[in-house]
Amino acid sequence: MANSTSLHVVWLRNDLRSYDNAALYYAAAAAGKDPASAVIAIFIATPGTWQQHHMAPIKQDFIRRRIKQMQTELNEQNIALLTVEAGNYKDCVPIFTKLADAGMVALYGQTEYEQREQQRDKLISQRLLQAGIAVNWYDRLCIMPPGSIVTQSGDTYKVFSPFKRNWLARLREQDISCFPKAKSAALYDADNLVQQLGYARMANGDDSSANYPVAEQQILENMRQFCQQQVADYNDTRDFPALNGTSGLSVYLACGVLSVQQCVNRLQMEAGPTLEQEKSGASVWLSELIWREFYKHILVAYPELIKHRPFQADTAAIRWHNNKSMFNAWCEGKTGYPIVDAAMRQLNQTGWMHNRLRMITASFLVKDLHIDWRWGERYFMTKLIDGEFAANNGGWQWAASTGTDAAPYFRIFNPVTQSERFDPEGKFIRQFIPELAQFNNKEIHWPHKKTTPSTYWPAIIDHAEARKITLALFTEVKKSDE
Ligand SMILES: Cc1cc2nc3c(=O)[nH]c(=O)nc-3n(C[C@H](O)[C@H](O)[C@H](O)COP(=O)(O)OP(=O)(O)OC[C@H]3O[C@@H](n4cnc5c(N)ncnc54)[C@H](O)[C@@H]3O)c2cc1C
Repeated sequence: MANSTSLHVVWLRNDLRSYDNAALYYAAAAAGKDPASAVIAIFIATPGTWQQHHMAPIKQDFIRRRIKQMQTELNEQNIALLTVEAGNYKDCVPIFTKLADAGMVALYGQTEYEQREQQRDKLISQRLLQAGIAVNWYDRLCIMPPGSIVTQSGDTYKVFSPFKRNWLARLREQDISCFPKAKSAALYDADNLVQQLGYARMANGDDSSANYPVAEQQILENMRQFCQQQVADYNDTRDFPALNGTSGLSVYLACGVLSVQQCVNRLQMEAGPTLEQEKSGASVWLSELIWREFYKHILVAYPELIKHRPFQADTAAIRWHNNKSMFNAWCEGKTGYPIVDAAMRQLNQTGWMHNRLRMITASFLVKDLHIDWRWGERYFMTKLIDGEFAANNGGWQWAASTGTDAAPYFRIFNPVTQSERFDPEGKFIRQFIPELAQFNNKEIHWPHKKTTPSTYWPAIIDHAEARKITLALFTEVKKSDE
């Protein structure tokens, strides 16, 4: 398989973009120094691993669509993108040893934080380095890479506020400029390389994510528009699911179609001094991006979280009721609590759920139905287009009061009051539960009071009773700790 061209190979994983892509940039720069070399990119679909990680079919489809689109985009930059289908993450190792035989002189990629992915990368690095091939990993998943924001005694922050203060102080001294688009001198004819590798070409998806654009220019434009216009109102609108007040960029951040550096750069450019004002839309949006990094730092510092262990060890002993039919009613949006049901239907129908609703539905599953938070965490992963381990695990452990800087266990959302407060006119509920269209703005939050028999699902639990049970479940384990 020997090849006279020296290949600089970029392995695309969680950085599915051509702008601000360190790996592509450095590979093209290195290849540009030697006329006998070329830069190619490779994406390896691993449906076996995706399934193991419960990755939602809609997210899998999104990745496949984005990669096909990226193939066209990279072609314009004279970079061939090979797309292959392998079983699972372990199958990636021999691909690189074969690429080494085919003339690879250097590998470039963006770091992944999960434990098994790190082990795989270590193994590949060792093999390639032994064969004299350079390996370059770039840690650009966060603005402040895990381990870089620590307490004075060098520990990981377990509380968000001081983490954020430190993060913001560091931002002022950090260079977060973005990499320009990489360009290669000539397109390398990589057509027969996939065959040489012995893997099938990447299959197409099922188009279930078709409502989410995949063209990079359009996605960048959406992000710019958000930073230019909607972000000013973010703090006032972000909690109201009927208002479309959040960016909707999570899938792009989760798959690396956008980098967090691009978002913060643009935010700084558009928001100017308002970014320094504590309650401005821009500063609150920046806080959300910092939450994203906080959970990644926690995951790297406490890798056992990947095994779904609760961060607060005592809560492992909680005796969850785990009633399967109640769980099914929650999944299907048939609990009789309209805001919970509308939210779950939004998730099932669109693959995305508003943040306020993620908090309400998660709290309801754990603190009203007394079902283990891990059941909900997994269900979310199987449905979310933006499903991402650190944020999902962090969000669930926050809601379940088992996590770091989590909601205290006695803070229990009342789903009806939450509904009245954050969907006051029932607009969001009506959008996803047409059966409730005839109820007025007051009754829609609790359609069981009507004197005429309700046609809506009966409530599967009494919130006041459920609340008492939750308090008892938590007090039991907290006491046994003393
Ligand atoms: C139970 C639960 C599960 C969640 N699961 C996920 C998940 O799998 N993937 C995911 O990306 N987010 C998750 N979140 C966080 C949050 O709900 C979503 O990031 C947000 O709803 C995405 O919409 P947006 O892009 O419009 O957000 P915006 O409000 O515009 O926020 C901008 C970006 O900041 C990040 N972000 C915002 N809030 C959080 C947060 N609380 N934690 C971490 N990052 C945040 C996301 O990257 C988001 O795109 C979860 C939250 C909860 C409570």
